[in-house]
Amino acid sequence: MEAEKIAENARQVLAEIPENVIVVAAAKTRTALEVKAVAEAGITHIGHNYVQEAQAMRNLMGVAYTWHMIGHIQANKTSRAVRLFDVIETVDSVELAEEIDKTCAKLGKVMPVFIEVNSGREENKAGIFPETASELVASLSGLQNLEIQGLMTMGPFVEDGEVLRPYFKRTRQLFDELKQMQQVNLKLKYLSMGMSDSYLVAIEEGANIVRIGTKIFGSRT
Ligand SMILES: *Cc1c(COP(=O)(O)O)cnc(C)c1O
Repeated sequence: MEAEKIAENARQVLAEIPENVIVVAAAKTRTALEVKAVAEAGITHIGHNYVQEAQAMRNLMGVAYTWHMIGHIQANKTSRAVRLFDVIETVDSVELAEEIDKTCAKLGKVMPVFIEVNSGREENKAGIFPETASELVASLSGLQNLEIQGLMTMGPFVEDGEVLRPYFKRTRQLFDELKQMQQVNLKLKYLSMGMSDSYLVAIEEGANIVRIGTKIFGSRT
C-alpha cells in the first residue's frame, strides 16, 4: 500500500482512541518503506514477530522507534532478540525469561517484558493459562536484568471483536490481581491487547497498548 494511504489509516486509528493508548504497528510481511509511513502519523512503536526480518527492517529504518517483539521466540534466537528489541511481549516460560536475563546481564541492559497470557486457554497456543500467571511471575523474582511491565494477550482467532470481550476482561482482572504482588522486578503498567478487529473493545476493557496491522497496512496477502 502507498505511504500516503498508510499514514492516513494510521491517523484515523489514532483519532478514535484515547491519547494514553500506545499503538504498536504490527509489521510482519510489510516492507520497511510501508512501516516507515506510520511515523508520518506519529506512531513510533513497531511490533514484529520474526527476529531476522525485524533485524533487516530495523537496519533500514534507523533507531527512532521502539521495537516490540510480539511473536514466539525460538530458543536459539533469544540472544539476538534481546539485542534487537526494546520490549519483549511474549514471555511465557521461566526458561525463556532466564535466557533473556542472562543475555541482558552480558549487555548491561534491563529488558522490559510482558507475560503472554493464553486467555482463551487454547491448546497449542503460546502464552500461559491465566491461573498460572502469578506462579510464573513469582518464579521470575530473582531475575534482575528484566522488568515485568505488562501482560499481553491475543485471544481466540475470530473476526468479531465483541466475541473477545470476555477474554480481555479476564486478562484485565489478572492484571489487577498481579499488581497486588510485591516484587522488585514487577512494575505492571501495560496491558497489550486488541488487534485490527478488536482494538476498540480491548480499549474499553482496559488495554493501553493495541497491536494493529491490517487496519493500517491493508490485508496480508
Ligand atoms: C499480526 C499480529 C497483530 C496484528 O494483527 P492484525 O489483525 O493484522 O491487526 C497483533 N498481534 C500479534 C501478536 C500479531 O502477530
